[in-house]
Formats: sequence, structure tokens, C-alpha cells
Amino acid sequence: MSGLRVVLLGRQGAGKGTQGALLAAHLGVPHVSTGDMLRAAVREGSAVGQRAARYLEAGELVPDEVIVAVVRERLAAPDAATGVILDGFPRTVAQADALETALAPRRVDVALEIDVPLEEVHRRLASRRVCPACGWSGAAPDPDVASVPCGGCGAAAVRRADDTPEAIRRRLEINEAQAAPLRGWFASRHRLVTVDGTGSPSAVLERALAALGRLSPAA
Ligand code: AMP
Repeated sequence: MSGLRVVLLGRQGAGKGTQGALLAAHLGVPHVSTGDMLRAAVREGSAVGQRAARYLEAGELVPDEVIVAVVRERLAAPDAATGVILDGFPRTVAQADALETALAPRRVDVALEIDVPLEEVHRRLASRRVCPACGWSGAAPDPDVASVPCGGCGAAAVRRADDTPEAIRRRLEINEAQAAPLRGWFASRHRLVTVDGTGSPSAVLERALAALGRLSPAA
């Protein structure tokens, strides 16, 4: 099953980051999160970061020409030559087309959709706390609790800058508009699988691996 090129689809808060990291470790391929890359670019104040900052803050999509260039460059790195877990890209049909061109003559093997109901992702995002030092993500016991100790390095895990009620609303709204055409893009090419994303991370991982394992008898 190694050597797969997987795209993760699903709502914000569905667990794409968590499953992306788990799947990448399991398959021995890099986990490429465009959200993480853009947040790092903003922190560093690079040219990409300066262009992207206001979009991230508002929960809007960064323009295609910016994000496509970032992804193309990342996919050209040697560690992505034999497989990758893409998390947060593509988000639109235009990005799916650009990805297909960037990968040619290879292609995305499968889009793995992690399905979590809207009410559940609202609950998860309200209590999500992320460690600014190591990227660990976990849940506060109560949405009003500002920070929790990071389960990775012990620093304080805090609310993500775009996990404000307004930005959450906007991000989910954009996602709902783009999700159907994007699913359709992969479904029409027989490359869409959907797994139930509720329950513990290990339960979801098990479902994801089973779904990926069914793709090829040699896996
Ligand atoms: P995420 O961590 O995937 O929720 O992404 C956080 C933010 O980064 C999004 O709200 C967008 O502003 C930006 N972003 C991440 N991936 C993309 C993408 N594929 N296209 C456009 N903007 C993106």
C-alpha cells in the first residue's frame, strides 16, 4: 500500500490533520498540509506568507496561483516522489485540475473523504486547541477553556487564529459550496472513497487503512 498519492477530503474539524499524520507515518510518505505550510509562511513573514495572511485570518481561500505554486514546489521535493498524503489541497475543482497537471504522468490514486456531520465539526472546532510549538491538536474539556497543556511537548495549546466563530462559519460555508463538485471530480474518475470520521482517531485510522487496502489487491 506504500507509494500511494492520497488526497484527504472532509470538513474542517473532520480530522484530516490527525489522520494525515497517522496515515503518513503508516505508509511512510510525507504528510503535506497546505494549511500548516501557509501558517508557517505567515509566521516566517515570507512573500507567500505576506500574500496569504489576510485570507487565512478571514477564513477565505488563498488565490489559486499562490497555493498551486506552493504545492507544485513541495511535490517536486525528493521525499514526495513516491507518495504523499495531501491535506487541504485540492479545495476546488480548478485546484484538482492543477494537481493532475502537476503530477502528470502520475496522478492522485484516491481521494479519501472523512465524513463527519456538520453539528459534530462545529462542536470539535469550538473546543479545538493547537500547540503553536509542535502542532499537536487536542480538545479542551469545555469550549470556554482558553488553553490546555499540549500532549506532545507540554507547551500551552491554544485556539487556532481562524477558529473564531466568524472564520469557522465562513470556512465551513466555503467548504459546503466546494465539496460536492470536488467529490464529483474524484467520483467520476472512480477515485473517491468515503469513511465514517466519527469515533476515536484509531478507529477512524482503521477504517481509512481498510478502505485504502481495498483499492488494490496487491496492497
Ligand atoms: P486548513 O488548515 O486546511 O483549515 O487551512 C487553513 C487556511 O489556509 C484556509 O482557511 C485557507 O485560508 C488556507 N488554505 C489552505 N489550503 C488551501 C487551499 N488548497 N486553497 C486555498 N486556501 C487554502
